[in-house]
Amino acid sequence: MSTTLTNLALELATGTITIVDLTATLEPSTPTLQLPEEMNWGVSWPFHIEEISRYDDRGPAWYWNNFKCGEHTGTHFDAPIHWVSGQDYENHATDTLSTANFIAPACVIDASAEAAANPDFLLSVPFIEAWEKEHGEIEAGSWVLYRTDWSKKPSNETYLNMQEDGGHTPGWEPSAVNFLAEKRDVIGVGVETVGTDAGQAAGQDPMFPCHNLMHGANKCGLAGLCNLDLLPAKGAVIIAPPLKIKQGSGSPARVLALLPSEAP
Ligand code: MN
Repeated sequence: MSTTLTNLALELATGTITIVDLTATLEPSTPTLQLPEEMNWGVSWPFHIEEISRYDDRGPAWYWNNFKCGEHTGTHFDAPIHWVSGQDYENHATDTLSTANFIAPACVIDASAEAAANPDFLLSVPFIEAWEKEHGEIEAGSWVLYRTDWSKKPSNETYLNMQEDGGHTPGWEPSAVNFLAEKRDVIGVGVETVGTDAGQAAGQDPMFPCHNLMHGANKCGLAGLCNLDLLPAKGAVIIAPPLKIKQGSGSPARVLALLPSEAP
């Protein structure tokens, strides 16, 4: 019998390990990614919910709903198949990804001050290296969570921060994505913003570098996370399985973090 698992259950029951919910509530007002209208690209459905019955003449003893939404709605998982650069891998969709990707340690990089000062802030290799100097190297098989406090924005308008030239939200320098994917061999990156790339990422080279390079390296993504400010720089374990949609490119997910109660 595994004492590790017994201890885990005990520490969860006694509160020695805390569970932090990194998930935003999914509701019709949940913001969705806005792509440039002039490109005439397809549109991701916002979350839509319709009551089937609620202990009434449509179903006297039961309450349930129908819902629909795009795979990339709210707090959600991005699988490598999401991007053209990741299309040729095997086991790269929500139903075929190794479940080992769904439970893993997290490194939390705090760039909340930089993002507050500059909504177009791009995380760079020197920024990551400075973080590693303080906290130690990012271990292979970790999630890297990019704290910007963007999930604390008070409205969809300030969260999406759309201007005439598109969204203005933080993202990545392409070299930083390559560094994490190739040099650190992370599972992927998680962000607080509506997608894993910057609001202005359509104009970066390559276009949408986090999607292009992460998925091109068979890595995953998490978007729309919240409560990253409650996590330690290291020491949390993330539980983030997507729905098992056949050949799914992603899905809304309930993302939880386990951490020692004294942290951070
Ligand atoms: Mn996505």
